[in-house]
Amino acid sequence: MNKEKIEFAKLFSNCKKKAITSVRECYYPECKTQSINSHILQKNGILSSIAPKKHLWELGINHYKSPPFRFERNGLNQIFSFNCFCEKHDNSLFKKIESEVIDFSDYETCLLFTLRTIYNEIFRKEVNSKTFECLIQEKDGSYNNAHFRETLRQEKLGLDDLKLLENDIWSDFNNKTQSYIFNNRKIKRAEICLSSFYTYDTSIEIENYYYKFGKDMERTSEIYINSFPFEKHSILLMGYHKRDENKLKGYFNTFFKENEKKVQRRITNLMLFNCETWVVSDNFHKSKIEGIEDLYATAVTYTGNNKNERKTFDLNFFNEDFKTKFQQWKNNNVG
Ligand SMILES: [Zn+2]
Repeated sequence: MNKEKIEFAKLFSNCKKKAITSVRECYYPECKTQSINSHILQKNGILSSIAPKKHLWELGINHYKSPPFRFERNGLNQIFSFNCFCEKHDNSLFKKIESEVIDFSDYETCLLFTLRTIYNEIFRKEVNSKTFECLIQEKDGSYNNAHFRETLRQEKLGLDDLKLLENDIWSDFNNKTQSYIFNNRKIKRAEICLSSFYTYDTSIEIENYYYKFGKDMERTSEIYINSFPFEKHSILLMGYHKRDENKLKGYFNTFFKENEKKVQRRITNLMLFNCETWVVSDNFHKSKIEGIEDLYATAVTYTGNNKNERKTFDLNFFNEDFKTKFQQWKNNNVG
């Protein structure tokens, strides 16, 4: 690693640290109390069910290493968590889904699962925005600046879209309305906890819109996805805003109508190419990741350049031949 890269890695990690410590206010509307660290999915009952040794694996970024994307094994208290609500709000909001019986057909239950997921996305985008603001300030005039500014602009647009969804979640809680459409199904158990929002519109669609109308899309359409082991199966719980019904209905319903193999493939593709927020068990790491870590790093790089994000490949974590297929994917698509 050359001197310039090391200096950038230092700067990036300092800016990011500063950004993380500056996002410390409870996300509950109007609450100014300091937030506490909380898990995106419940630690007891969900995360703990796949962590007999109290550790899980996540894909992290380390700018001092090349490639910077690598799997890290982290303790259960710290992994899959962020500063979300203050202690009072964290305790009072989630009572309903911390009990033994969870009814996934209950609308408010689905909203509660969505709540920490959306704030995690907001948190990540706020931290990214502040990190890039810091980089722009520190590297003023450098050749990277245009790229940093564009990243910052994209993060802020994404943040605006998420804030619209956020307001309607609270309005649903307060007025007993239903602004979202949720659905769930049981699938074969996998030792994966996934919890994310992703954008339905592809980069090419967003670009085409810009060329056609000379401005950014008013907003993109976000889809919410959660999957985690529950009792003897894994649960797939997904949702989207009702105003996107015409656009998303057909795509969304495929997750609940298609045979399970196809759905497993969709989940695998989303994890590899769209959603960054997931953790897996020691067992999963051993059977699906160990020895082919470089392929995952390649997938991250591929994603950065891919403009057709809805394209799915023949990759399925639930199949025995996943590692072979992943290597074939690289040979065919990256070379
Ligand atoms: Zn609060």
